Order: sequence, then C-alpha cells, then structure tokens
Amino acid sequence: MKEPIIWEIPIPEITLDEVFQAEGADYSQRPPHPRTVKLHRKIMEEAASLVRPTAIWIEVDVTGIGAGELFLEDGYKFSSNLLPNVARTAEKMLLISTTIGTAIEERLTEYKEAGKMSELYALDACATAFVAKAGTTAMSQVEDAYHRVGLKTTFPMGPGHSYWKGLEDMQVIFHFLQAERIGLHLNDSNLIIPTKSVAMVMGVGRDLPDFKGKTHCNFCNLQTTCPLSQAV
Ligand code: SF4
Repeated sequence: MKEPIIWEIPIPEITLDEVFQAEGADYSQRPPHPRTVKLHRKIMEEAASLVRPTAIWIEVDVTGIGAGELFLEDGYKFSSNLLPNVARTAEKMLLISTTIGTAIEERLTEYKEAGKMSELYALDACATAFVAKAGTTAMSQVEDAYHRVGLKTTFPMGPGHSYWKGLEDMQVIFHFLQAERIGLHLNDSNLIIPTKSVAMVMGVGRDLPDFKGKTHCNFCNLQTTCPLSQAV
C-alpha cells in the first residue's frame, strides 16, 4: 500500500464572527453584549493555545463508476449519488483527514464537568471554526500542488453530508489513510475520534466536469441552516 503524507498545519486565524457563526448565533439585528464578546475573545485565545492542526492524505486509483457508486483500487468503493457524477472522469481520488488534536477536547470535558456552559459552548464553537479552517487550508494546499502540475480537482466531498448519507464509507477512507498515524480512529458509529476532525475526498484528473465554482454545500439540502457551511 502507498504511504500517506502527514502535514502539521500552521495554526489558522479565526475571527469572532466565524465563532459566532459556528455557534449558530445571529447578531444581525442587535450586536452581542460586551460581556459575550469579552468571553469569546478570551476563549478564542485559549483555543488557539490548544489546537494542533494536522492533516494526513493519500491518493487512491479510481477503477470505474456505476449507479451511485465509484470504484477504487483493491476492490473498495464509495456509495454516493453525487460523487460518481462530480468525479466521473477522475483518474484518482485524494483522501484527506484533518484534526486539531485532543487537547481542546480535554478542555471541553473540563468545562462540562465544572458546569461552565458559556465557556463550553464558546470553546466548542472555536474548535469547530478551527477544524473547518484547518481542513480548508489542507485541501487548498493539496489542490494547489495538483494544479501546479496541470491536473484538475473536484470540490471536496465527504460522508455524513446529506448528499452522501451513510458514514460507512468512512471505513474506506480510514483503510487507505491509515489515519491512526495522526491519532485518529473511528468509533462504532463511524464517527472520527477525536471528534474535532474532518475527512473529505476530491477527484483528481486531466479532464473533469466543470461545476463552475460550486461546492458540496450547493448539493446539500441543509445549506440554509447549517452553521458549518458559513463557518469558513
Ligand atoms: S451545508 Fe453543511 S451539511 Fe451540507 S454539505 Fe455544507 S457543510 Fe455539509
């Protein structure tokens, strides 16, 4: 099996607005209370001291497509209605997972056990904003590397969104990624542990369908309500 590549990502900058968006807070009609702003700024600093963004990725050969299925090397496959459409002419799939590590989750547990719910929610939102941004940074870096050598990439997609409902395909991603190398594993429900982690795939090839600047959120029926679609 090919060896995955591991990258320690520089800690990204997040903004107060991104944290509020990740929280699902709406301050469009009235500004947040100064006490709320102060707490969030303090927790943002704490979060930045705790995150350790790391990505792992690998290329896998595409061997064919079927109805709602995309076939991969070694007899594996992905089952999604969107994926075989978007990546129907891809030669390879790029599989990538990004995490911000365990320290922030340990702090979340401490806040929960201490009953500090305001701090808990603010830190959780910071973690969501950090992992979304670290994931975007990692994928942009990989995309740029392909584009520099004349290859095209699809927009990133992942199991667990409405266009790719089942999480079982996380097992396929983790099989190829060997993500335990950066401390990740799947629980019995195929959720990534630690939870502040993401896994995505992109098609790679010389001649890909043109989706004109669209992202996977354009194909998701949650896009008007999902805080993640607005977090980065
Ligand atoms: S709207 Fe939310 S759930 Fe849907 S694809 Fe975008 S991030 Fe995922």
